[in-house]
Amino acid sequence: MQHTMWKLDNVIKNYDWGTKTALSTLFNIDNPNNQPQAEIWMGAHPAGVSTAITTDGKQIKLDQLIAKNPQQILGEQTCKNYPALPYLFKVLSAQEPLSIQVHPELSKAKLGYAKENQLGIAIDSAQRNYKDPNHKPELIYALTPFLAMNGFRPIAEIISLFTELNIQSLNELVQAFQKNQTDEGLSQFFHGILILNNQVKQQAISELLEKIQNKTETLFAVIKHMAIKYPNDSGLFSPLILNVVQLKPQQAMFLKAQTPHAYLSGTGLEIMASSDNVLRAGLTNKHIDINELFNNTTFHSIPANQLLTTAIKENNKIDFPVPVNDFAFEIINSDENIRHEKTISAEILFCITGEITLSTSKDTFTIKAGESVFIADCAKTFSYQGHGQLARAFNH
Ligand SMILES: [Zn+2]
Repeated sequence: MQHTMWKLDNVIKNYDWGTKTALSTLFNIDNPNNQPQAEIWMGAHPAGVSTAITTDGKQIKLDQLIAKNPQQILGEQTCKNYPALPYLFKVLSAQEPLSIQVHPELSKAKLGYAKENQLGIAIDSAQRNYKDPNHKPELIYALTPFLAMNGFRPIAEIISLFTELNIQSLNELVQAFQKNQTDEGLSQFFHGILILNNQVKQQAISELLEKIQNKTETLFAVIKHMAIKYPNDSGLFSPLILNVVQLKPQQAMFLKAQTPHAYLSGTGLEIMASSDNVLRAGLTNKHIDINELFNNTTFHSIPANQLLTTAIKENNKIDFPVPVNDFAFEIINSDENIRHEKTISAEILFCITGEITLSTSKDTFTIKAGESVFIADCAKTFSYQGHGQLARAFNH
């Protein structure tokens, strides 16, 4: 191949929950129409394909580039194991909470996708749960303080929070849960909250908001903030049921399949298997399929102190190990020394800060904060030099 590294021109998603200024502040990215800038997609997912640009300015869509030489670009092993680039890398910047969601396991995604195809549900239909046959494990790495919910709280904690608030219209549900403090009891409690009839739900929400009026802890601040946009959504109870976690910059958290979670606010890098499969559980105006949601949720508590990913530091690199092969994620601190790195697969390097020069044997690019390059597996090695920080995405 003539080239082994390309600069990327990436798609920006203007979802309404995005921030309007964070990406221009952090990365000097223009926002001439003052739109929310929620996500930058780096990769070849059909819903937002990056454009690859050669050193001599020629442009091609990344999926087309890969399709021309899959073995050389993705590597032989990746071609055997995956139908395309296995990961999708994003910058995510939330002003408002995203919907509470779970992602399916691989086997269930395959089944669900096939079933909805068979039923003839169009891929862009609002009733469609499975957009592709893939699972979607993900890792979020905080660039600013980043607030999120992840996993069920320990059962005793949920019961104590609800008991303390003493919401009359939920008494029956809470009492039943108290008598059955098991994963099954948790599932029934969660189900009970989701299927409250409208009148009871309204009553319960107004009681909740009244009782937390003067409370200032993060947990209650989160509920009050959510209520501005979603005043009638049973998702307002979710911070009492799910762990609320605040990542500091440079901390990361892995989100397992079948585990409810939601990003609430902040800017981070997100890496995931190349999939768009989302089952929603609240804080949304979109379709909630309760049966499918329950079929894809593991009702099991995770203590909050087990949520963060333990980073492994080695010289100038920090690795954030994940329990899947679809993606891997590293932070590289670069300085005036030239350093060399072997390619592990096709790789995307995103410049977080500073200005860094990257070279393969055939191409050289200097990238600034907010810019990214794509390197083919067949480059074998690349080098980098210059003060700044890189985020590195690849797969095993
Ligand atoms: Zn998610």
